[in-house]
Amino acid sequence: MTLTITPQKVVGFHYVLTNADDEILDRSDEALEYLHGFNNIIPGLEKELDGLTIGDKKTVSVPAADAYGEYDDSLIHEFPKSAFTPGEELEVGLEVELESDQSSVVMLIKEIGEDTITLDGNHPLAGETLNFDVEIASIREATKEELEHGHVHSGDGDGHHHH
Ligand SMILES: [Zn+2]
Repeated sequence: MTLTITPQKVVGFHYVLTNADDEILDRSDEALEYLHGFNNIIPGLEKELDGLTIGDKKTVSVPAADAYGEYDDSLIHEFPKSAFTPGEELEVGLEVELESDQSSVVMLIKEIGEDTITLDGNHPLAGETLNFDVEIASIREATKEELEHGHVHSGDGDGHHHH
């Protein structure tokens, strides 16, 4: 029986990620495993892997809207320098974590002015069309526990796994 990618399968795939300028943004070392149909990966990619089988190769182009979203100017905010902890390392391109009562959000330092610092809350890949060169490496049935959790439990000692 040939396994194909359908919801509730655990899929391993290799990928090379490039942007519209053909610059390589990321690539897999080992095959990346995810649980299909559970929004574990960006929706525009998941949709295109549906129905593939082991060994299949595909180039998938995902528009920004189906990847990390369009670039949103309203996520750019200016803060007075006094709002930052004295001694905190502030440099364009560094990430800072803003904490509120309920949650924290990571923003990128976009600009450092005389008295203000401009932060950008967009995902670094927002606004980018992403091209994935994908090769399917493995497909297996998910375990009951994986389905309950909605994600893959890898066999590597589960270092990333927290509940
Ligand atoms: Zn889990």
